[in-house]
Amino acid sequence: MEWGNSANINEEHLARLEEIDANLLQRAQSLAGQTDAPGQQEVKQAGDLVSSLSKGPAGGHEERVTNCRVQRPIWSLRAQVNRSQAAAVKAAQSIQALHERFASIERTVLDKDPQETALSRDRLSALLPGMEALLEDSKGSANGDAARADLVQSISEAKELLAREQTQVPRHDIESARQGLYQAADRVVQAQNRTSGIDCRQQDCLALTFDDGPSPISSQVFKALQDNHAVASFFSIGQKIDAQGGNTLAKIAQAGFPVGSHTWSHTDFALISAQHLQGREFSDAAAAVKASTGRPVTLVRPPHGSVNEQSRTDLLNGLAAGIALYNVDSYDWAPQASASSVEKKVLSQVRPGSIILMHDAYQHTADALPHIIDQLRARGDQVRFVTITQLTGEYPRAGDVYYSRTNILRM
Ligand SMILES: [Zn+2]
Repeated sequence: MEWGNSANINEEHLARLEEIDANLLQRAQSLAGQTDAPGQQEVKQAGDLVSSLSKGPAGGHEERVTNCRVQRPIWSLRAQVNRSQAAAVKAAQSIQALHERFASIERTVLDKDPQETALSRDRLSALLPGMEALLEDSKGSANGDAARADLVQSISEAKELLAREQTQVPRHDIESARQGLYQAADRVVQAQNRTSGIDCRQQDCLALTFDDGPSPISSQVFKALQDNHAVASFFSIGQKIDAQGGNTLAKIAQAGFPVGSHTWSHTDFALISAQHLQGREFSDAAAAVKASTGRPVTLVRPPHGSVNEQSRTDLLNGLAAGIALYNVDSYDWAPQASASSVEKKVLSQVRPGSIILMHDAYQHTADALPHIIDQLRARGDQVRFVTITQLTGEYPRAGDVYYSRTNILRM
């Protein structure tokens, strides 16, 4: 599933990027003759790149893995995974190449566009609450003083840019401030990791995640994690956060466990964009989580693990949140699931760097959890249970999709 989905998501993004860049080319050409217009040679090379990508084969992984339960010989499944992985990587390289080739054209053309500049300002201000929460949470982090000072500086520069009239600040300055914030935040995250003795490049880090709460099971899951000295992430459904659920989330967040959003009503991303439900499904859900935890949402978990291009853009522009997927499914949601089936599913798929999908909504999940933690710890003395941010060592990038420590799909 993981690589089939990665290929689809990257190819969808690449197609959109080609459309955006074709439009940028037209606008660049219409600037010809103006003093700050991009050079003809540059525009031609960028155009050549777009048309060479469009002519290429659509990935060569024609048969996609859409259903994990399809009965097929393991050899044929593995071959297909390899093709999907190759297609995902190829699309990612093309995305990167387009970004590099179009960087200066984008700067010239979009700096002149008030709508694009306003959008950039929105993205930057959406990022600030999460950055300020990181600053607050990293207080007293033994190795973090220099990194925190840089983040303080980056936040105040960003605020200063946003306080000035839009016409006084070019778009590319806003974008640089946004990138600067991410880099400063990454250094704080890495300093926090050092303080906690976490280095997921060297250790066998695992990110346990729990969706579909809060529910009465959430407290049991939380207790099992605490009793076993393990950290995990929770992704809550906005409309389930009643007074009792909110109290549970407050306790979970107090212990330093991140709580993300799993939309307001467990609605598929495709439906959210088709029916324009972003306000309720993304914004209201994030506000409900924040009201309980006191922390802004920096990661969203898509219902049914399904991501689309429009929602990635919506999350980039609106919440400044990343998208947390997973590469291990515990199948605790399946009708026949039991504590032992959940344990087997996790233990058979997990590898260092995995993000593991479970649900704080089933008794069998809470029952299986202590055994899963024990079994995983028994695999080596380098096993660490971490948050997704600790796992990647980076502040979540808005719109990026996180499958595991190393499989991250960039916008
Ligand atoms: Zn769910």
